[in-house]
Amino acid sequence: MNRNTAIDFYALGTKNSIRAYGSGGSGALRAACRRVRAIDRAMSAFRPGSDVWRLNESAGCGPVRLGTETIDVLARAQEYAALTGGAFDCTVRPLTRLWGIGGECERVPSVREISDTLPNAGYKGLAVNRDNLTAELARKGMAVDLGGIAKGYAADEIKRLLAEAGILSAIINLGGNIVAMGRRGDGRPWRIGVQDPLALTGKPLAVLEVEDRTVVTSGSYERFFIRDGVRYHHIIDPRTGSPAASGLLSVTVVGASSIDADALTTALFVLGRDKGLELLRMLNADAVFISEDSELTVTDGLRGTIVKCSDKEA
Ligand code: AMP
Ligand code: MG
Repeated sequence: MNRNTAIDFYALGTKNSIRAYGSGGSGALRAACRRVRAIDRAMSAFRPGSDVWRLNESAGCGPVRLGTETIDVLARAQEYAALTGGAFDCTVRPLTRLWGIGGECERVPSVREISDTLPNAGYKGLAVNRDNLTAELARKGMAVDLGGIAKGYAADEIKRLLAEAGILSAIINLGGNIVAMGRRGDGRPWRIGVQDPLALTGKPLAVLEVEDRTVVTSGSYERFFIRDGVRYHHIIDPRTGSPAASGLLSVTVVGASSIDADALTTALFVLGRDKGLELLRMLNADAVFISEDSELTVTDGLRGTIVKCSDKEA
């Protein structure tokens, strides 16, 4: 008997949904939702008492013992920081805090405030010890923000839980961080839209036809504020301390692991298209870039996967 189940919930600072098709129970979806909430409780920088909150509170005061999962995600964040020359850097929290990113009062800081805060960021000041399950921020004023990677981790976890429950076909969407499990009920690949960053309606510029893949997007349109006619978005270039100005509106990575894709899209958005393409070649990974002039760049591995939407179709 076929039974489709769905759940919508708020966690990790965003709207999430899971749609499972075919056999499988709503119990698995509820368990997945509880799992994401537990990840949020451990990894949110905003929740007093969370692992990340305790780490940040103890900056400059020695190592702090944290949960295994948080240690794992911090370690992956550090791998991506090293791999991307610090374009992905989970110690950007003093800067995201300065700009008020993530719900606090958003504002444009002065050049002086930015230059004063920049020394408090820098992934080399974060030490993660997997054996002792401890992490340490070297200096007072430093702080971690896992907003660029935690959704990917959570999406991988949901996929694992659903697979364990025998679910073969599902769409997991954690605020645009998508995992497409298996194929659609009719046996055809899933169709995932690459949103037109300039369209307010969520209309896609292209569609990716995928099977068992994660599709993760980082875009300047996802979270931003406007002051004096200028748009300020939520992805910080750790080199400048300001929203990344790399000529891109969005980057979408298609891959097997959502935590990898999540960290990678954030890094690619900071690096820009040309440096991003070099990194993708090195990692043998695939992405779609949309530049500020709405030009689409697609890596070779996605030929046959991506269908561009003509104006007539859209
Ligand atoms: P994403 O949407 O995955 O690209 O993540 C963006 C979020 O990650 C922001 O809202 C911040 O919480 C955090 N963040 C901003 N800039 C960076 C960066 N350069 N490296 C890592 N995390 C970042
Ligand atoms: Mg990310």
